[in-house]
Amino acid sequence: MSRKLLLENAHIEGIRYYDVYRKNGGYRSVEKALKMTPEEVVEEVKKSGLRGRGGAGFPTGMKWSFIAKPEGVPRHLVCNADESEPGTFKDRYLMEFLPHLLIEGLIVSSYALGSNTTYIYIRGEYAWIPDILEQAIAEAKANGFLGKNILNTGFDCEIYVQRGAGAYICGEETALIESLEGKRGNPRIKPPFPAVKGAWDRPTVVNNVETLAAVVPIINMGGEEYAKIGVGRSTGTKLISACGNINKPGVYEIDMTISVEEFIFSEEWCGGIKNGKRLKACIPGGSSVPILPANLLLKTAKGEPRMMNYESLADGGFATGTMMGSGGFIVFDEDQCVVKNTYTLARFYRHESCGQCSPCREGTGWMEKLLLRLEKGQGKTSDIDLLWDIQSKIEGNTICPLGDAAAWPVAAAIRHFRDEFEWHVTHAAEAQTRNYGLAHY
Ligand code: NAD
Repeated sequence: MSRKLLLENAHIEGIRYYDVYRKNGGYRSVEKALKMTPEEVVEEVKKSGLRGRGGAGFPTGMKWSFIAKPEGVPRHLVCNADESEPGTFKDRYLMEFLPHLLIEGLIVSSYALGSNTTYIYIRGEYAWIPDILEQAIAEAKANGFLGKNILNTGFDCEIYVQRGAGAYICGEETALIESLEGKRGNPRIKPPFPAVKGAWDRPTVVNNVETLAAVVPIINMGGEEYAKIGVGRSTGTKLISACGNINKPGVYEIDMTISVEEFIFSEEWCGGIKNGKRLKACIPGGSSVPILPANLLLKTAKGEPRMMNYESLADGGFATGTMMGSGGFIVFDEDQCVVKNTYTLARFYRHESCGQCSPCREGTGWMEKLLLRLEKGQGKTSDIDLLWDIQSKIEGNTICPLGDAAAWPVAAAIRHFRDEFEWHVTHAAEAQTRNYGLAHY
């Protein structure tokens, strides 16, 4: 049984509302943190080893300590609730069922960073959630946890919810900031990082929903205790949104000491592959991380069981490993066609490219066209090489990581499933009527 720090109270009826949340220990971390100095709060987060839960896994305490503090210039905390990575829906779950956990984490984090005006930027498609968040904010304010002079400490904080308009690119932190400022969501060149020059050119920390929620147990239990959970640099717990061909899709909290095999096949988690089929492959960290075939997914290249943590999932680099990413865990059974699924992703990235950088704007379109051609059995072997060439010219050549995110799934699909691409060329007629599947191995 994995330890639960975030979802521990998710089953309690009415936990979405202040009274029930407070009765079950809510807002204790605010009471505790506001008796500490902001620097001490940052220190606890550093000690916890918490890494950003949006996908990049950057150490949160370190990011916080980078925030510039020019005299007289306001600083901002922005919560990135633009969760748009295909296969990722864990932040939605947190905001929908435990909104006060996020608000509590935001108050403590705002105090630590010196942000008196804090924003939640939420994707437009989560249309029903801003009302839930705004109600939680109003309840927190009515009970003295937000507004002026919080708990008589002299700390003022307001939280505003800003709705996006449904663009994946606005989850990239600098595009998000542009959008927050009322402009088109085009990513900015980094550096300068937002911690130095962010919203309205002010020092700004952008953190993911789950990261900010994790600050609550960190303050309650202390950074050192939090760091004891997990393994190595994968401390604490991680939310995983599991989907695809599994028996029990859903949002799970794991403590990063379980194996991938246990996570997929145990009744406690995904409950195995649907309809008694075999496991073919998995994208474990949201659509932009590399797909792995079952053999590499369950065991590392060294033959050790692959574990559900940052280091183990990445073991072997992109040659034989992948990434933890956002925790969007997409499972494919033996009937899934890798070419078709890669095409679906390529179509998504082409649609979502902001168009600023030529390699991404043009390259995503070419990849989509080639993949569709191959998928329909109208491709040539040279198309596979061309596809490889295009993805390699997008990677690393764009302002923001959307280019990499579009290139990596294509690269991994060809690297691990080249025979499946070739089958689509050699079995052109069949390719149009049925999927490749495991049977062809
Ligand atoms: P990144 O590595 O560029 O940055 C991570 C964070 O650390 C940023 O906030 C950045 O400002 C900060 N940072 C890094 N170096 C810094 C420095 N020297 N000084 C100050 N701050 C510094 O990654 P990213 O572009 O933020 O995120 C990419 C990841 O996002 C991908 O790996 C992908 O998994 C993930 N992603 C998630 C979603 C989702 O819906 N959750 C969607 C798309 C992509």
